[in-house]
Amino acid sequence: MFPDADYAGRLDRIRRVMAGRGVDAALLSVGADLPYLTGYEAPQLERLTMLVVPAGGEAVLVVPRLEAPAVVDRGCFEVLPWDETDDPVALAVALAGEPATAAIGDHTWSRFLLAFQALAPATRFVPATPLTAELRIRKDADEIALLREAGRAADRVAARLAGERFSGRTEHEIAAATRQMLVEEGHDVASFAIVAAGANGASPHHEPTDRVIEPGDAVVLDFGGRLGGYHSDTTRDFVVGEPGAEYRAAYDVLREAQAAAVAAAGPGVAAQEVDRTARRIITGAGYGEHFIHRTGHGIGLEVHEDPYLVEGNEQVLEPGMCFSIEPGIYLPGRFGMRIEDIVVVTADGAERLNRSPRHAYMVD
Ligand code: ZN
Ligand code: ZN
Ligand code: ZN
Repeated sequence: MFPDADYAGRLDRIRRVMAGRGVDAALLSVGADLPYLTGYEAPQLERLTMLVVPAGGEAVLVVPRLEAPAVVDRGCFEVLPWDETDDPVALAVALAGEPATAAIGDHTWSRFLLAFQALAPATRFVPATPLTAELRIRKDADEIALLREAGRAADRVAARLAGERFSGRTEHEIAAATRQMLVEEGHDVASFAIVAAGANGASPHHEPTDRVIEPGDAVVLDFGGRLGGYHSDTTRDFVVGEPGAEYRAAYDVLREAQAAAVAAAGPGVAAQEVDRTARRIITGAGYGEHFIHRTGHGIGLEVHEDPYLVEGNEQVLEPGMCFSIEPGIYLPGRFGMRIEDIVVVTADGAERLNRSPRHAYMVD
Protein backbone atom coordinates (compact mmCIF):
# COMPACT_ATOMS: atom_id res chain seq x y z
CA MET A 1 0.00 0.00 0.00
CA PHE A 2 2.77 2.44 0.89
CA PRO A 3 5.36 2.82 -1.83
CA ASP A 4 9.11 3.01 -1.43
CA ALA A 5 10.16 6.39 -0.16
CA ASP A 6 13.20 7.87 1.53
CA TYR A 7 12.11 6.76 4.99
CA ALA A 8 15.68 7.01 6.33
CA GLY A 9 15.86 10.62 5.16
CA ARG A 10 12.49 11.41 6.72
CA LEU A 11 13.61 9.94 10.06
CA ASP A 12 16.80 12.01 9.91
CA ARG A 13 14.79 15.14 9.21
CA ILE A 14 12.31 14.53 12.04
CA ARG A 15 15.27 14.09 14.43
CA ARG A 16 16.62 17.48 13.31
CA VAL A 17 13.21 19.11 13.83
CA MET A 18 13.02 17.50 17.30
CA ALA A 19 16.48 18.76 18.21
CA GLY A 20 15.55 22.27 17.10
CA ARG A 21 12.49 22.23 19.35
CA GLY A 22 14.02 20.56 22.39
CA VAL A 23 12.01 17.36 22.00
CA ASP A 24 13.79 14.26 23.34
CA ALA A 25 11.54 11.56 21.87
CA ALA A 26 8.68 11.26 19.40
CA LEU A 27 5.97 8.67 20.13
CA LEU A 28 3.87 7.93 17.05
CA SER A 29 0.99 5.47 17.06
CA VAL A 30 -2.12 5.22 14.84
CA GLY A 31 -2.47 8.05 12.33
CA ALA A 32 -0.53 9.24 9.31
CA ASP A 33 2.79 10.23 10.91
CA LEU A 34 3.70 6.56 11.35
CA PRO A 35 3.27 5.52 7.70
CA TYR A 36 4.97 8.75 6.60
CA LEU A 37 8.10 7.81 8.56
CA THR A 38 8.06 4.02 8.20
CA GLY A 39 5.75 2.95 5.35
CA TYR A 40 3.70 1.03 7.92
CA GLU A 41 0.20 2.01 8.97
CA ALA A 42 -0.99 0.75 12.34
CA PRO A 43 -4.47 -0.77 12.43
CA GLN A 44 -6.83 0.98 14.88
CA LEU A 45 -6.57 -1.73 17.51
CA GLU A 46 -6.66 -1.90 21.28
CA ARG A 47 -3.12 -3.31 21.12
CA LEU A 48 -0.40 -0.68 21.06
CA THR A 49 1.68 0.00 17.98
CA MET A 50 4.15 2.83 18.54
CA LEU A 51 7.21 4.15 16.77
CA VAL A 52 9.65 5.49 19.34
CA VAL A 53 12.12 7.98 17.88
CA PRO A 54 14.67 9.16 20.44
CA ALA A 55 16.31 12.42 19.30
CA GLY A 56 19.74 10.85 19.45
CA GLY A 57 19.07 7.17 18.95
CA GLU A 58 17.70 4.47 16.70
CA ALA A 59 13.99 4.46 15.91
CA VAL A 60 12.14 1.36 17.14
CA LEU A 61 8.68 0.21 16.11
CA VAL A 62 6.92 -1.48 19.03
CA VAL A 63 4.31 -3.70 17.42
CA PRO A 64 2.02 -6.56 18.53
CA ARG A 65 3.69 -9.84 17.50
CA LEU A 66 0.68 -10.91 15.46
CA GLU A 67 0.89 -7.66 13.40
CA ALA A 68 4.68 -7.78 12.94
CA PRO A 69 4.58 -9.88 9.73
CA ALA A 70 2.84 -6.95 8.00
CA VAL A 71 5.74 -4.58 8.72
CA VAL A 72 8.04 -4.07 5.72
CA ASP A 73 11.69 -3.80 6.73
CA ARG A 74 12.86 -0.42 5.40
CA GLY A 75 16.32 -0.77 6.97
CA CYS A 76 16.11 2.45 8.98
CA PHE A 77 14.23 1.38 12.12
CA GLU A 78 14.21 -1.65 14.39
CA VAL A 79 11.08 -3.74 14.89
CA LEU A 80 10.31 -4.88 18.43
CA PRO A 81 7.35 -7.30 18.54
CA TRP A 82 5.63 -7.63 21.90
CA ASP A 83 3.79 -10.66 23.25
CA GLU A 84 0.33 -10.80 24.79
CA THR A 85 1.73 -10.88 28.33
CA ASP A 86 4.16 -7.95 27.82
CA ASP A 87 3.44 -4.37 28.83
CA PRO A 88 4.02 -2.50 25.55
CA VAL A 89 3.85 0.92 27.21
CA ALA A 90 6.69 -0.06 29.57
CA LEU A 91 8.69 -1.15 26.50
CA ALA A 92 8.08 2.23 24.85
CA VAL A 93 9.04 4.14 28.02
CA ALA A 94 12.30 2.18 28.26
CA LEU A 95 13.11 2.82 24.59
CA ALA A 96 12.32 6.52 24.93
CA GLY A 97 14.58 6.74 28.03
CA GLU A 98 12.08 8.62 30.21
CA PRO A 99 12.34 11.75 28.06
CA ALA A 100 12.04 15.22 29.61
CA THR A 101 9.90 16.27 26.64
CA ALA A 102 8.07 13.83 24.37
CA ALA A 103 6.01 14.60 21.25
CA ILE A 104 2.96 12.38 20.96
CA GLY A 105 0.81 11.78 17.88
CA ASP A 106 -2.67 13.34 17.74
CA HIS A 107 -4.50 10.06 17.32
CA THR A 108 -2.78 8.10 20.09
CA TRP A 109 -5.40 6.55 22.33
CA SER A 110 -5.64 8.43 25.64
CA ARG A 111 -5.40 5.06 27.41
CA PHE A 112 -1.79 4.71 26.25
CA LEU A 113 -0.90 8.32 27.01
CA LEU A 114 -2.28 7.93 30.54
CA ALA A 115 -0.29 4.71 31.02
CA PHE A 116 2.84 6.41 29.71
CA GLN A 117 2.32 9.35 32.09
CA ALA A 118 1.94 6.95 35.01
CA LEU A 119 5.24 5.23 34.17
CA ALA A 120 7.15 8.43 33.31
CA PRO A 121 5.60 11.10 35.55
CA ALA A 122 8.34 13.66 34.87
CA THR A 123 7.83 13.63 31.10
CA ARG A 124 6.22 16.71 29.54
CA PHE A 125 4.07 15.92 26.49
CA VAL A 126 3.68 18.14 23.45
CA PRO A 127 1.69 17.45 20.26
CA ALA A 128 3.69 15.82 17.45
CA THR A 129 1.70 17.43 14.64
CA PRO A 130 3.63 20.74 14.57
CA LEU A 131 6.85 18.71 14.19
CA THR A 132 5.69 16.21 11.60
CA ALA A 133 3.83 18.91 9.66
CA GLU A 134 7.17 20.63 9.04
CA LEU A 135 8.02 17.61 6.90
CA ARG A 136 4.65 16.48 5.64
CA ILE A 137 3.36 19.89 4.55
CA ARG A 138 5.70 20.00 1.53
CA LYS A 139 5.18 17.01 -0.73
CA ASP A 140 8.07 15.53 -2.67
CA ALA A 141 7.84 14.61 -6.35
CA ASP A 142 6.68 11.04 -5.65
CA GLU A 143 3.95 12.22 -3.31
CA ILE A 144 2.74 14.80 -5.84
CA ALA A 145 2.70 12.10 -8.52
CA LEU A 146 0.39 9.98 -6.36
CA LEU A 147 -1.87 12.96 -5.56
CA ARG A 148 -2.01 13.75 -9.29
CA GLU A 149 -2.90 10.16 -10.14
CA ALA A 150 -5.62 10.15 -7.45
CA GLY A 151 -6.94 13.48 -8.79
CA ARG A 152 -7.17 12.11 -12.32
CA ALA A 153 -9.00 9.02 -11.09
CA ALA A 154 -11.50 11.26 -9.26
CA ASP A 155 -11.94 13.34 -12.44
CA ARG A 156 -12.85 10.18 -14.37
CA VAL A 157 -15.51 9.51 -11.74
CA ALA A 158 -16.91 13.03 -12.26
CA ALA A 159 -17.06 12.39 -16.00
CA ARG A 160 -18.93 9.11 -15.48
CA LEU A 161 -21.35 10.70 -13.02
CA ALA A 162 -22.20 13.33 -15.65
CA GLY A 163 -23.69 10.49 -17.73
CA GLU A 164 -25.68 8.93 -14.90
CA ARG A 165 -29.43 9.18 -14.40
CA PHE A 166 -30.11 10.83 -11.02
CA SER A 167 -33.89 11.23 -10.91
CA GLY A 168 -35.76 8.40 -9.18
CA ARG A 169 -32.61 7.22 -7.37
CA THR A 170 -31.79 7.82 -3.72
CA GLU A 171 -28.78 9.67 -2.33
CA HIS A 172 -27.63 6.28 -0.98
CA GLU A 173 -27.76 4.71 -4.43
CA ILE A 174 -25.75 7.51 -6.05
CA ALA A 175 -23.25 7.37 -3.18
CA ALA A 176 -22.81 3.61 -3.58
CA ALA A 177 -22.32 4.01 -7.34
CA THR A 178 -19.77 6.78 -6.73
CA ARG A 179 -17.81 4.62 -4.28
CA GLN A 180 -17.73 1.77 -6.78
CA MET A 181 -16.50 4.12 -9.53
CA LEU A 182 -13.73 5.47 -7.28
CA VAL A 183 -12.33 1.95 -7.00
CA GLU A 184 -12.95 1.07 -10.65
CA GLU A 185 -11.04 4.19 -11.71
CA GLY A 186 -7.93 3.23 -9.75
CA HIS A 187 -8.28 4.06 -6.07
CA ASP A 188 -7.31 1.33 -3.60
CA VAL A 189 -10.32 2.25 -1.49
CA ALA A 190 -13.18 4.72 -1.64
CA SER A 191 -12.95 7.02 1.37
CA PHE A 192 -16.19 9.01 1.22
CA ALA A 193 -19.05 10.01 -1.06
CA ILE A 194 -21.28 12.88 0.04
CA VAL A 195 -24.47 13.05 -2.01
CA ALA A 196 -26.73 15.90 -0.91
CA ALA A 197 -29.92 16.55 -2.90
CA GLY A 198 -32.09 19.65 -2.77
CA ALA A 199 -32.23 21.24 0.67
CA ASN A 200 -29.80 18.59 1.99
CA GLY A 201 -27.13 20.34 -0.09
CA ALA A 202 -27.18 23.22 2.39
CA SER A 203 -25.44 20.90 4.90
CA PRO A 204 -21.80 20.67 3.72
CA HIS A 205 -21.04 17.27 5.30
CA HIS A 206 -24.50 15.75 4.75
CA GLU A 207 -24.66 11.96 5.13
CA PRO A 208 -26.49 10.28 2.22
CA THR A 209 -30.05 9.20 3.01
CA ASP A 210 -32.90 7.38 1.30
CA ARG A 211 -34.22 10.67 -0.06
CA VAL A 212 -35.26 10.17 -3.68
CA ILE A 213 -33.73 12.64 -6.13
CA GLU A 214 -36.39 14.45 -8.17
CA PRO A 215 -36.54 16.61 -11.29
CA GLY A 216 -35.35 20.13 -10.46
CA ASP A 217 -33.08 19.01 -7.60
CA ALA A 218 -29.60 20.41 -7.30
CA VAL A 219 -27.24 17.70 -5.98
CA VAL A 220 -23.83 18.27 -4.39
CA LEU A 221 -21.37 15.39 -4.85
CA ASP A 222 -18.14 15.45 -2.83
CA PHE A 223 -16.08 12.30 -3.12
CA GLY A 224 -12.60 10.89 -2.75
CA GLY A 225 -10.52 7.78 -2.28
CA ARG A 226 -7.03 6.67 -1.45
CA LEU A 227 -4.38 5.65 -3.96
CA GLY A 228 -0.93 4.50 -2.85
CA GLY A 229 -1.70 6.01 0.56
CA TYR A 230 -2.62 9.46 -0.86
CA HIS A 231 -6.10 10.97 -1.15
CA SER A 232 -8.32 12.52 -3.75
CA ASP A 233 -11.09 14.95 -2.79
CA THR A 234 -13.25 16.81 -5.31
CA THR A 235 -16.73 18.34 -5.39
CA ARG A 236 -18.96 18.90 -8.41
CA ASP A 237 -22.56 20.02 -8.64
CA PHE A 238 -25.37 18.33 -10.57
CA VAL A 239 -28.85 19.55 -11.49
CA VAL A 240 -31.66 17.27 -12.63
CA GLY A 241 -32.97 19.16 -15.65
CA GLU A 242 -32.43 22.89 -16.03
CA PRO A 243 -31.05 24.98 -13.16
CA GLY A 244 -33.26 27.93 -12.18
CA ALA A 245 -32.21 31.56 -12.45
CA GLU A 246 -31.34 31.87 -8.76
CA TYR A 247 -29.15 28.77 -8.83
CA ARG A 248 -27.36 30.00 -11.97
CA ALA A 249 -26.68 33.40 -10.42
CA ALA A 250 -25.22 31.89 -7.26
CA TYR A 251 -23.23 29.35 -9.26
CA ASP A 252 -21.61 32.07 -11.37
CA VAL A 253 -20.48 33.81 -8.19
CA LEU A 254 -19.14 30.57 -6.74
CA ARG A 255 -17.23 29.66 -9.88
CA GLU A 256 -15.67 33.13 -10.01
CA ALA A 257 -14.70 32.88 -6.32
CA GLN A 258 -13.12 29.46 -6.75
CA ALA A 259 -11.15 30.52 -9.83
CA ALA A 260 -9.94 33.69 -8.10
CA ALA A 261 -8.81 31.71 -5.05
CA VAL A 262 -6.85 29.28 -7.24
CA ALA A 263 -5.28 32.25 -9.05
CA ALA A 264 -4.39 33.86 -5.70
CA ALA A 265 -2.64 30.76 -4.36
CA GLY A 266 1.10 30.59 -4.88
CA PRO A 267 4.48 30.75 -3.18
CA GLY A 268 4.90 33.65 -0.77
CA VAL A 269 1.14 34.07 -0.25
CA ALA A 270 -0.32 33.63 3.25
CA ALA A 271 -2.84 30.77 3.53
CA GLN A 272 -5.49 33.16 4.87
CA GLU A 273 -5.18 35.35 1.76
CA VAL A 274 -6.58 32.52 -0.39
CA ASP A 275 -9.59 32.30 1.94
CA ARG A 276 -10.02 36.08 1.87
CA THR A 277 -9.98 36.11 -1.93
CA ALA A 278 -12.85 33.61 -2.23
CA ARG A 279 -14.78 35.20 0.64
CA ARG A 280 -14.47 38.73 -0.76
CA ILE A 281 -16.20 37.71 -3.99
CA ILE A 282 -18.92 35.64 -2.32
CA THR A 283 -19.57 38.37 0.27
CA GLY A 284 -19.54 41.05 -2.40
CA ALA A 285 -22.36 39.24 -4.18
CA GLY A 286 -24.42 39.10 -0.98
CA TYR A 287 -23.86 35.43 -0.06
CA GLY A 288 -21.25 36.00 2.66
CA GLU A 289 -23.31 34.57 5.53
CA HIS A 290 -23.95 31.44 3.43
CA PHE A 291 -20.26 30.53 2.99
CA ILE A 292 -19.99 28.75 6.33
CA HIS A 293 -16.61 26.99 6.25
CA ARG A 294 -12.94 27.66 5.53
CA THR A 295 -11.84 27.73 1.90
CA GLY A 296 -9.66 24.63 2.04
CA HIS A 297 -7.47 22.09 3.79
CA GLY A 298 -4.17 20.42 3.11
CA ILE A 299 -4.30 16.87 1.74
CA GLY A 300 -1.89 13.97 1.50
CA LEU A 301 -1.79 10.85 3.67
CA GLU A 302 -4.80 12.41 5.43
CA VAL A 303 -7.84 13.93 3.76
CA HIS A 304 -7.56 16.93 6.10
CA GLU A 305 -4.10 18.06 7.22
CA ASP A 306 -1.97 21.22 7.24
CA PRO A 307 -2.10 23.79 5.76
CA TYR A 308 -5.63 25.03 6.44
CA LEU A 309 -6.84 27.94 4.30
CA VAL A 310 -8.62 29.92 6.95
CA GLU A 311 -8.66 33.46 8.33
CA GLY A 312 -5.92 33.72 10.95
CA ASN A 313 -3.52 31.27 9.30
CA GLU A 314 -0.56 33.41 8.31
CA GLN A 315 1.49 30.43 7.15
CA VAL A 316 3.23 31.33 3.92
CA LEU A 317 2.56 28.92 1.07
CA GLU A 318 5.57 27.19 -0.49
CA PRO A 319 6.13 24.99 -3.54
CA GLY A 320 5.06 21.40 -2.87
CA MET A 321 2.17 22.27 -0.57
CA CYS A 322 -1.08 20.54 -1.63
CA PHE A 323 -4.54 21.61 -0.52
CA SER A 324 -8.16 21.89 -1.55
CA ILE A 325 -9.80 25.09 -2.72
CA GLU A 326 -13.51 24.55 -2.07
CA PRO A 327 -15.70 27.58 -1.47
CA GLY A 328 -19.43 26.89 -1.15
CA ILE A 329 -22.76 28.68 -0.90
CA TYR A 330 -25.46 27.10 1.28
CA LEU A 331 -29.02 28.41 1.31
CA PRO A 332 -30.89 26.68 4.18
CA GLY A 333 -34.08 24.93 3.13
CA ARG A 334 -33.26 25.47 -0.55
CA PHE A 335 -30.00 24.15 -2.00
CA GLY A 336 -26.24 24.16 -1.63
CA MET A 337 -23.28 24.24 -3.96
CA ARG A 338 -19.53 23.77 -3.65
CA ILE A 339 -16.70 23.59 -6.17
CA GLU A 340 -13.60 21.75 -4.96
CA ASP A 341 -10.26 21.11 -6.60
CA ILE A 342 -6.96 19.95 -5.16
CA VAL A 343 -4.04 22.17 -6.13
CA VAL A 344 -0.28 21.95 -5.68
CA VAL A 345 1.80 25.08 -5.19
CA THR A 346 4.44 25.41 -7.90
CA ALA A 347 7.35 27.82 -8.37
CA ASP A 348 5.05 30.51 -9.75
CA GLY A 349 1.47 29.70 -8.79
CA ALA A 350 -0.83 26.78 -8.10
CA GLU A 351 -1.56 23.88 -10.43
CA ARG A 352 -4.94 22.16 -10.29
CA LEU A 353 -4.84 18.39 -9.83
CA ASN A 354 -8.56 18.22 -10.71
CA ARG A 355 -9.46 19.15 -14.26
CA SER A 356 -13.06 17.99 -14.71
CA PRO A 357 -15.30 20.82 -16.01
CA ARG A 358 -16.38 23.33 -13.39
CA HIS A 359 -20.02 23.92 -14.27
CA ALA A 360 -23.31 22.62 -13.00
CA TYR A 361 -23.73 19.21 -14.69
CA MET A 362 -27.23 18.85 -16.15
CA VAL A 363 -28.37 15.27 -15.72
CA ASP A 364 -31.57 13.28 -16.21
ZN1 ZN B 1 -15.37 18.79 3.89
ZN1 ZN C 1 -14.42 17.28 -0.47
ZN1 ZN D 1 -12.10 18.83 0.89
